[in-house]
Amino acid sequence: MRYCPNCSLTLTTKFDGGRERSACPDESCGFIHFGNFSIGAAAVVIRDSKALLVQRGWEPGRGSWQIPGGYVEHDEPILEAVEREVMEESGVTAKARDVIAFRHSIGGSIGGPSTNMYVVFRLDYIEGEPKFDNDEVIGAGFYSLDEMSQMASVQGLSRWAIDKAMRADGLGGLHPENGVGSMPARPGWQLFGLTPPDPDLM
Ligand SMILES: [Zn+2]
Repeated sequence: MRYCPNCSLTLTTKFDGGRERSACPDESCGFIHFGNFSIGAAAVVIRDSKALLVQRGWEPGRGSWQIPGGYVEHDEPILEAVEREVMEESGVTAKARDVIAFRHSIGGSIGGPSTNMYVVFRLDYIEGEPKFDNDEVIGAGFYSLDEMSQMASVQGLSRWAIDKAMRADGLGGLHPENGVGSMPARPGWQLFGLTPPDPDLM
């Protein structure tokens, strides 16, 4: 980033929070560039011991199979984002239950286009048979672990997340809990926390 997104001045550097950062020279503007960040949300949807996979129609990785998911819009609640991605990519209606895993990856010179949080949710299947647009997605279906092992290319991160979900069946992840207990609901917030195990499952 070379120019201030607020006032278009050429950025200089400023010592802030223990390191040099790109910053606007206009003190009254005060813009500091902390980096480029993005959030992804992905979905493990299991029906009858089979997990929902979609086949990528676009590069990179055209032809490979993965769990549905995508970028969370900056003004979009993450729970809505993950359910939207499942619907868009597979036509399946599913409801997010809990967070089962996340990946933090550093972007820029080391990795992808931005530093990214990729949050993996477990969703309850509601309805709909997998279908696809034959453009962004060129295949969709529910597959068992045995069937996946026969498929040419299942993305490693997806397989890892599916394994987690299947082995953690009956265990709780981080549940959405906005507005319960002592924590009031707040516009724009979605809180997730551990829930004590259900005694019926112990
Ligand atoms: Zn500025």
